[in-house]
Amino acid sequence: MSEPRTELSSLGEFGLIEHLTRNIELQNASSILGVGDDAAVIDHFGKQTVVSTDLLLEGIHFDLAYTPLKHLGYKSVIVNISDIYAMNATPTQIVISIGLSNRFSLESLDEFYEGVYAACEKYGVDLVGGDTTSSQKGFIISVTAIGEVAPDKFVKRSTAKKGDLICVSGDLGGAYVGLLYLEREKRIFMESPGVQPDLENQTYVIGRLLKPEARKDIIEFLAQAEIQPSAMMDISDGLSSEILHICKDSGLGCRLYEEKLPVSEEMRMAAFKFEIDPTACALSGGEDYELLFTISQEEHDKLVLNEQISVIGYMTDADQGSAIITKGGGQHPITAQGWNHLAQ
Ligand code: ADP
Ligand code: MG
Repeated sequence: MSEPRTELSSLGEFGLIEHLTRNIELQNASSILGVGDDAAVIDHFGKQTVVSTDLLLEGIHFDLAYTPLKHLGYKSVIVNISDIYAMNATPTQIVISIGLSNRFSLESLDEFYEGVYAACEKYGVDLVGGDTTSSQKGFIISVTAIGEVAPDKFVKRSTAKKGDLICVSGDLGGAYVGLLYLEREKRIFMESPGVQPDLENQTYVIGRLLKPEARKDIIEFLAQAEIQPSAMMDISDGLSSEILHICKDSGLGCRLYEEKLPVSEEMRMAAFKFEIDPTACALSGGEDYELLFTISQEEHDKLVLNEQISVIGYMTDADQGSAIITKGGGQHPITAQGWNHLAQ
């Protein structure tokens, strides 16, 4: 028996918007006016407003062959609010615009929005607007996140200081090896559709790719511990590329220690299976959405309370360059594709 399928054309554009937004209950006092007018109205009551946007295109940023729509909706919100947290701000609202072909049914769009609303609820964010349009081919998603921060408490990439400690949350490289598994299974499926996927025991790394979380907990911890990072960003493209941004924008260099890079056991085992270096995955694997930040050395003692934060190196003068000290004591320059020279 096939699943029920309601054509989007049977609702019309306004019926569809009405359907998708019918259950919204605004959670934030700053959301003065939500969906239903020409624009939303937001008042952050003396705080500063932080805005970030991302465009996600089918075939470029996601593959519907192995991405459940509910996960995609969730992740579309997460990747945006992660940018707001990376400014040391709190996300409060999102607007979401979608382009759809008639390949999508109302039921599949409902699944996507289930993920969107699950993320909104978990992170206390209001969906206050969007746009809905048809697309000839492919699913297009644009999410804009809005957040608030106490005046001048936002944290830029360009303000790290020499001697500052480099810190990272969670563990790295998991999403990348999760992607390797899913790409491999997709290839096998295309070649022989009858073969069952072999993804057992890979739930952690696949979850890292398909259902990432934003590090709200880290921002709350930093505020509570009264740590004001000197620079911060989230890791969407991979640690080596992101630390180079902080170095360049701050006019500094850095030293990272391979042995300090946080990696999960699941990621290490998976990397060995694919015969790649786990350090390479931690340095260059993207999409983990962890936070990378620098703090002054005096604040080091306050970090011991949080096992989710690893100190992985320190900032140097620019003329020292940017390098990683390997477990064997060697030193390698960090490059944006840092893993080629480390590959075994
Ligand atoms: P306009 O013609 O001014 O673009 P729309 O009819 O597109 O207005 O939108 C009506 C209302 O519905 C607006 O508040 C808009 O922000 C909201 N909206 C439209 N599409 C979506 C969507 N996909 N998700 C959430 N809200 C939406
Ligand atoms: Mg519109």
